[in-house]
Amino acid sequence: MENTMRGEADYSVARRRMVEEQIVARGLHDPRVIEVLGRVPRHLFVEPALQDQAYGDYPVGIGSGQTISQPYIVALMTEALQLTGVEKVLEIGTGCGYQTAVLAELAGQVYTIERIKELAFSARHVLRHLHYRNIVLRVGDGSLGWKESAPFDGILVAAGSPEIPQPLVEQLKEGGRLVVPVGNEDTQSLFRVIRRGNKVDIEDLGGCRFVKLVGRFGWGQQKKAGDQTQKRSLV
Ligand code: SAH
Repeated sequence: MENTMRGEADYSVARRRMVEEQIVARGLHDPRVIEVLGRVPRHLFVEPALQDQAYGDYPVGIGSGQTISQPYIVALMTEALQLTGVEKVLEIGTGCGYQTAVLAELAGQVYTIERIKELAFSARHVLRHLHYRNIVLRVGDGSLGWKESAPFDGILVAAGSPEIPQPLVEQLKEGGRLVVPVGNEDTQSLFRVIRRGNKVDIEDLGGCRFVKLVGRFGWGQQKKAGDQTQKRSLV
């Protein structure tokens, strides 16, 4: 984009277009999700030099080799959790905190875990600035879940895993939904896992491409955590 959009009014136009062209046009319908994506100021979660790209149809760098998820992917994952406003939700991979804010608007209480301290700190800063009061943020390995606060109605994993992390399934309530990208490093399928007693129902919501879930129940620990970039979703 050559033109620099500075005013909040310009961003609200960009946001409306994002919702129409990227979310509604691709068949997502949940009116609560649509309303919230039309309202949360996504540009405030990226650094000032990248704000003009915040409403584009692609992920954007947020530092430490990580990216803010593409708007459509945020909407798809959120819709898959089927939130009504009262749920307790766990998010793995806070990143810049945008998806966290969307969840906080749509659920009762949000727990979120990020492994990179710098990202967690800046997410906390923005979320406080926007006056969210129903978010608890922790730095650590989210592939282990958050046992002390379990069970959850919904768990959203914003990073790709080689398999469904078992602790997360165990931390779901009966009927709870876990949304997680599962596959190899290059491409994954977005799975929705619903807990039914000691069994699970698994649905494939389509192809996607995320940065790695680095952790005990993900890709194992790495020496260097900044060498992957999230690619455009293929869905
Ligand atoms: N929803 C975020 C997505 C960021 S990308 C956003 O839109 O900004 C995925 C994030 O998952 C990265 O910030 C990465 O550091 C984090 N991550 C990867 N493995 C993790 C783990 N085991 N525990 C917690 N966070 C993890």
